[in-house]
Amino acid sequence: MALNKRQETILEIVKEHGPITGENIAEMINLTRATLRPDLAILTMSGYLDAKPRLGYFYKERPTPLPMLEFLEKYRAKDFQSMPIVIHEEISAYDAVCSMFLEDVGTLFVTNKANLLSGVISRKDLLRASIGNNDLHSIPVSVIMTRMPNITVCEKDDSLLDIAQKLITKQIDSLPIVKKQEAGYEVIGRITKTNMTKAFLQIVKPEED
Ligand code: ADP
Repeated sequence: MALNKRQETILEIVKEHGPITGENIAEMINLTRATLRPDLAILTMSGYLDAKPRLGYFYKERPTPLPMLEFLEKYRAKDFQSMPIVIHEEISAYDAVCSMFLEDVGTLFVTNKANLLSGVISRKDLLRASIGNNDLHSIPVSVIMTRMPNITVCEKDDSLLDIAQKLITKQIDSLPIVKKQEAGYEVIGRITKTNMTKAFLQIVKPEED
């Protein structure tokens, strides 16, 4: 919400002198209490100020929630990311299952000898590989993973809006956050549907970090 000049002046006064009565604010800007009443009502109702009987007006430290679109455009992958769990493409599908349990994640990112992203392996990929008596010890993850160049990635400064769109259109649970190198992508983070859910919570409860 855009404030008018007088409302901004009131806000500045309350920031500096609060708690302060309406009477005292009016005195400081040479207006009557009655003239200020609508401005004070607007500032209080829109959450900028708090009013306490007998004490007067306080500046409210709690940030006002941003509208959803503004929030999703302003916040970036780096603001809500998690640690990426990365495995090497030569390890077995069995060991990948163990890593998923140990690290408590649903997706592992796979790298090659140069430590650059070569694939992604999800729970369903591993379940598929385990159907039909396959020996998971003898199958390398590289055989069952989704591989480059079919991996959807994002960068640390991509907006949450871009990320939400990628997750939904590609029907996937997570994206690796990558840094472009000459020969491919270095994996530097991970953003998942859980991170996105945390971001949504923060839109409605900005005070709970
Ligand atoms: P799950 O399969 O456990 O439900 P996903 O929905 O994330 O998990 O994965 C669905 C399929 O998409 C899997 O085959 C997985 O390898 C692939 N996949 C997962 N993440 C990505 C990604 N970032 N880019 C491309 N493919 C992915």
